[in-house]
Amino acid sequence: MTNRNYHLVIVGYGGMGSYHGKLLKENQNINVVGTYDILEERRAASLADGYKVYESLAAVLADDSVDFVLIATPNDVHKEIAVAALNAKKHVICEKPVTIYSEELIEIMQAAKMNDRAFIVHQNRRWDEDFLTIKKVYDELIIGDVFHIESRVQGANGIPGDWRHQKAYGGGMLLDWGVHLLDQLLFMIDSKITSVYANLSYILGNEVDDGFQVFITFENGINSLVEVGTTNFIQLPRWYAKGTTGTAVIHDWDINGKIVTQNRGVEVEAPKPIKAGQGLTKTMAPPSEKAVSTSDLPKVDKTMESFYDNVISVVEGKAEPIIKNEEVLRVLQLMETIFKSAETNEVVKDFDRVMDGKILF
Ligand code: NAD
Repeated sequence: MTNRNYHLVIVGYGGMGSYHGKLLKENQNINVVGTYDILEERRAASLADGYKVYESLAAVLADDSVDFVLIATPNDVHKEIAVAALNAKKHVICEKPVTIYSEELIEIMQAAKMNDRAFIVHQNRRWDEDFLTIKKVYDELIIGDVFHIESRVQGANGIPGDWRHQKAYGGGMLLDWGVHLLDQLLFMIDSKITSVYANLSYILGNEVDDGFQVFITFENGINSLVEVGTTNFIQLPRWYAKGTTGTAVIHDWDINGKIVTQNRGVEVEAPKPIKAGQGLTKTMAPPSEKAVSTSDLPKVDKTMESFYDNVISVVEGKAEPIIKNEEVLRVLQLMETIFKSAETNEVVKDFDRVMDGKILF
């Protein structure tokens, strides 16, 4: 770990900008030296938090002592700020969703390459414990080969805030939460996508989606369902996965859940029929006691380099980015495909083959 202080300015000092400010107080490498926001009240909040306030983005970019710009504005202006900052020879950390359209990210990636500066997107939910737990179950074949996985977040408070209700700002829940869940899924499952089918919901009457469901199949045989809802007064589990020898469930962000696996090599009694509604069933009866074992979810190893430390390692040429721009681009293109599938009510096949041409530039 180096002792050098990198100077960083937060552009957009709202909810997430101030959260970064708090988190970075603990960081040994990065020093937040100031902020820039278009709103007077957010400038005042920044001053109250002890940060210098820049009068304009141009003033931030003209300050040679600034190494990093961290973009935490609404999504529609990420690209213009990122490209300007990269052209001013700053490294850039950008909030998710990186941009609204994939062409914008390609432009940013070209600017980063041309200026030889790092551009890294804050896909922070790759570090979430619930995700790392299901990833461990998947990677270590704890329930055998996973062939079905469901990832959900469901709230009952509608779309939050102001700009998230508007298309022009890149609002809607697919871009807001979908980006995290899709990023996690694609980071975990190393296989090409063979089909995408989606529906978006507009229950609340906004011009942007208040939730969605997408069914994604992979070349390695995995079927997945990703779902985001903001009108769910009863929540389904955060994760549900079926493997060839068991099932895993993670209910919430506190990692409540369990694993149930089949017992092999023991003599198992046939399940006893149960009364189910107006009929009898053996098929849907609970397995006999000896047939299965229930265990706790595995504990995850938390040694993965932190987001900010990885950013510094990348800038110093010591590590590859944990969040690669090509991966971020694939997720963005997947979201574009989800919009297309929902609009046409059609399955989009061979997503990765279709998209390959766009990734190369
Ligand atoms: P917010 O509305 O609370 O804050 C945005 C701030 O940007 C506001 O203070 C606004 O005045 C300012 N702003 C707008 N346009 C600007 C411009 N051109 N230049 C400078 N400042 C400008 O929004 P938020 O919830 O903090 O979201 C900001 C970004 O962070 C979004 O991209 C969002 O998706 C992302 N976000 C990420 C996470 C995460 O977990 N990674 C969580 C929440 C939000």
